[in-house]
Formats: sequence, C-alpha cells, structure tokens
Amino acid sequence: MPDPNGFLRYDRRLPARRPVPVRIMDWREVYPPAGEELIREQATRCMDCGIPFCHDGCPLGNRIPDWNDLVRTGGWDAAVESLHATNNFPEFTGRLCPAPCEAACVLGLGGQQPVTIKQVEVEIADAAVARGGLRPQPVPAPTGRSVAVVGSGPAGLAAAQQLARAGHAVTVYERDDALGGLLRYGIPDFKLEKRHIDRRLAQLAAEGVRFRTGVNVGVDVTAEELRAEHDAVLLACGALQGRDTPETPGRALRGVHQAMAHLVAANRVVAAAGEGRPALATLPDGTPIDAAGKHVVIIGGGDTAADCLGVAHRQGAAGVHQLDLYPEPPADRDAARDPWPTWPWVLRSYPAHEEGGERVFAVAVQEFVDDGTGQVRAVRIAEVTVEKVDGRRIVTALPGSEREIPADLVLLAIGFEGTEEQPLLAQFGVTRNGRGAVDARPDWQAGADGVFVAGDMHRGASLIVWAIAEGRAAAAAVHAYLGGVGTLPAPVDPGRQPLAAR
Ligand SMILES: Cc1cc2nc3c(=O)[nH]c(=O)nc-3n(C[C@H](O)[C@H](O)[C@H](O)COP(=O)(O)OP(=O)(O)OC[C@H]3O[C@@H](n4cnc5c(N)ncnc54)[C@H](O)[C@@H]3O)c2cc1C
Ligand code: SF4
Repeated sequence: MPDPNGFLRYDRRLPARRPVPVRIMDWREVYPPAGEELIREQATRCMDCGIPFCHDGCPLGNRIPDWNDLVRTGGWDAAVESLHATNNFPEFTGRLCPAPCEAACVLGLGGQQPVTIKQVEVEIADAAVARGGLRPQPVPAPTGRSVAVVGSGPAGLAAAQQLARAGHAVTVYERDDALGGLLRYGIPDFKLEKRHIDRRLAQLAAEGVRFRTGVNVGVDVTAEELRAEHDAVLLACGALQGRDTPETPGRALRGVHQAMAHLVAANRVVAAAGEGRPALATLPDGTPIDAAGKHVVIIGGGDTAADCLGVAHRQGAAGVHQLDLYPEPPADRDAARDPWPTWPWVLRSYPAHEEGGERVFAVAVQEFVDDGTGQVRAVRIAEVTVEKVDGRRIVTALPGSEREIPADLVLLAIGFEGTEEQPLLAQFGVTRNGRGAVDARPDWQAGADGVFVAGDMHRGASLIVWAIAEGRAAAAAVHAYLGGVGTLPAPVDPGRQPLAAR
C-alpha cells in the first residue's frame, strides 16, 4: 500500500549535478549518486495508480509502481529483482533514457511534477552492484541449438542474454574492437562511464555468451558460413548511416566533419587514457580532429549534438554554437498539440547545455565559408521557416537574414538515414526500406528463413529502451523458432509505436 500523501509532502527533486567548472575538467559522469534518503523520499511520491500510465510510456513495460514502493519501504533486494524482470540493463536506461515513462506519469498531468522514475531506476541498478555485484543467473541445461547475434549494441546484448538464459549457445559478433555498440564509442563517458558496460559483459560471459570482436560479418565471415555454424541469426547492426549535406557549398572544406567521426575519435582517446595508452583523436584516414582552442559550430538539435557540445567543452573549445533548423520549442507541454500522456515537444536542455555554448534556433546553413586555403573559417546562416507540405519538409530562408558565425570546426549532427549499406544485407537477403531500416515480419524474421532483425536496424535511429525491448522480443521469437520450451517475454511487437495522439 503506497503512501497516499507522499506527493503532497514532497516536491520532485533530483540530486545536484557536479559543478560545471569541476566536471568539464574530466570525463566522469555528471550526476553523483542520489543517496538513499533522497531516493526513498522521491519513490514515496508514487501513487501506485489504478491505471499506471507510466507503463504505457515505457516500451519495456517496467513495473514502475512496484519498485517505487519497494524502494520506499527499503526492500532493495526485491526492487532489484522486480526491475531486472523486465529490463536487462537498467544501469543504461537509468542513466540515458529520456524517460517517456515520466512524460506519461499521472503526477505530471496539468504541467505538474512527475515521479523521478529514471533516477529511482538508476539507484536500484546501482544497488544491485553494491549488494553483491551482477551475479550471473544459473543457466539451464543446453538446448543444443546455437544462435549468432550480429552487433553488440543494447539490442544485440539484450537478445544474447535472454537466449543464453534459455539454454541456447550464443555467439555475439562485433566488427569493432570493443563491445557495446553506440554505448561504447558513440556516447561519451560523462553520460555513461564504460565500467557499467564492462560489468554487464562479464555477467553475460559468465552466463555462457561468447564474444568475437573485430569480425565484420559479410566481409570477414560470410552469411553462408555463419548460417552453417548456427541455427538462427539475429541482425542488430544499428542505424549508423549518418545524414550529410553534400549540396551545401563548402561541404568538402577541411574542418567540416560528421559528428559521429568526432565523437568516436574523442571517446577512443578517453578509452585509451583509461588504459594508460596515449592516443590522438584522428579520423579513420589519420586526420587529427580536436576542438581545443577552436570555434566550433554543431549543426543539429538532438542527443548527438548535445554530446558533441559536452565533448567540445571538455576538449577546451574557444566557443561553441549549436544550430537548429526548428524554432525554439516551448518550455511546457502544449496540450492541444501533444496531450498528456504522449511525448511532448518541449525545449530539452541536457547537462551539456549548462556547460556553455549558444543555441541558435530556426536557422539553416547556406554555405561553409573557405579561408582561402581550403579550411573552413565560418558558416553563413539564414533565418528560416519550416513547414510540412504533403509529408515533405519545405525550408524557406528569410530574405536579408543572412550572417556569418566564425567556425574552425563544424560537426554535422543532422540525424541518421538508417542502417548502413553493407555486404551483409544482400548476403542475408534483407533490404533497406524507404527510411533505410529493415522491415520485420510479425515474428521478427526478415529476409531468409531463420534470419531475425531488431533494434535501430529495424526501427531506425531510436532509443536504448526501444533497442532493449526489441532485443528481448526478437529473442522470444528466436526461442520459439528453435522450438524452445515455454516462452520468453516479448514486451513489443515489430509494429509497436510510441504513445501518440494521432
Ligand atoms: C551520439 C549518440 C548519443 C545517443 N544518446 C542516447 C541517449 O542518451 N539515450 C538513448 O536512449 N539513446 C541514445 N542514443 C541512441 C542509442 O544509442 C541507440 O538507439 C542504440 O544504441 C541502438 O542500439 P542497437 O543495439 O540497435 O544498435 P547500436 O548500438 O548502433 O549497435 C550496433 C552494433 O552493430 C555493429 N555492426 C554493424 N554492422 C556489423 C557487421 N557487419 N558485423 C559486425 N558488427 C556489426 C556495430 O559496430 C555496432 O556496434 C544515442 C545515439 C547516438 C548516436
Ligand atoms: S503513473 Fe506516476 S504516480 Fe502513477 S504509478 Fe506510475 S510512476 Fe507512480
């Protein structure tokens, strides 16, 4: 029975973030632990609603009111168990998820203060580690069936863990030198320190999952070879095809880069430093790329852009502008446009925005300006309006609104165009749809018989929570395909969409 007055007694409170001048001197996470007193107080605000709308916001179907009440009463071991019943990696979602569950929380109705669900989640996940570590689960007798998982992001890893726990022999193939997908070299350490991934990987390995890094499936090993070795294959290769702007004059200048090239290079330097190895941030062709002392312009308004902002400040940028095509969103939910409990279009400020830089809304780059030597020296921007006509985006520049912003380094964080075109696709008989994603049949199969797809590769660039949900659901489908005993949980089907009003 929850505390009926909890939300009346306590306001929503989050732990204080580490001070900006301190945290931009290192790469460690921005949030310190909340502490038991604060987190029990915040869990007490949950009303244990008759219809918990938070469930509808979360694709994993997390049992949010249950674990809120367990935290309130100090039942940490049971809270750990309840959280892991629906989520393989709550330490990732608790740190990184934008929390559609909070947008759907009943306490958020009418612009009020939702429960700090995500903070409670991360504290439970960390309690699991503090109270004896991430112990491997006992594995049942082997089924004799084997599965290849291609891609070690959250979708692939969630599927691998589910299948190994059902007794199948699972091998994860990853072309990179380290496991974790975008969590490893895409997302910076100040959002997710990599020890969290390593701990979880140790658990998976102890449960029998085998890992093969540095293997580019489709190139180093063919689909035919993989299929000869395994009874089923799950493709979870992400949606890593970065959108570009080749038509903008000056795109080929030195100093204009894809954001992911910069982020991955920067995160590799941090990883090397952690291992005591010196490293330089360089592009795959060896070109150095570093924001130190530079005027940086980031084009785009999402997660990738905010991550570039935090990285630029930690590298010592002289100044940063972040440009967004769209007008500045409102501070609060517009109920006519995005009624509760849907995900609202509001101004989202990440911790990186506290650290400096200037956000410029409703502008588009007209030209990357040459300094006369082939190096970018500025971006020329114009104020714009954006409208949708027949589903197409029409961007109109306002005459006379053009101006220049100084730029030595320009990072394109303008989204992704689906999964990469690569030899693996044709070899497994799968094709990209109009969005660059791979469609799945209702049983998560795509292309040839016994070939499954999940995560960003299927959904298009999305969120970690969706990747885990799809990985779990695809694992359930693989288990059924292999004739496994019983059923595994399948929180979503391939057609499931986020809560929407229309
Ligand atoms: C910069 C950035 C920041 C983000 N921040 C957030 C955030 O804060 N919160 C959030 O919820 N989401 C965030 N996201 C989105 C989130 O990271 C993705 O939705 C999620 O990682 C998708 O998981 P996935 O397993 O489908 O694919 P990925 O994580 O992309 O993993 C796919 C893996 O497949 C491997 N692979 C591809 N082809 C092959 C092949 N042929 N052979 C072997 N391996 C292969 C790739 O190397 C990669 O490791 C962010 C994304 C980016 C780019
Ligand atoms: S909707 Fe909010 S208050 Fe209601 S059960 Fe979920 S977290 Fe608790």
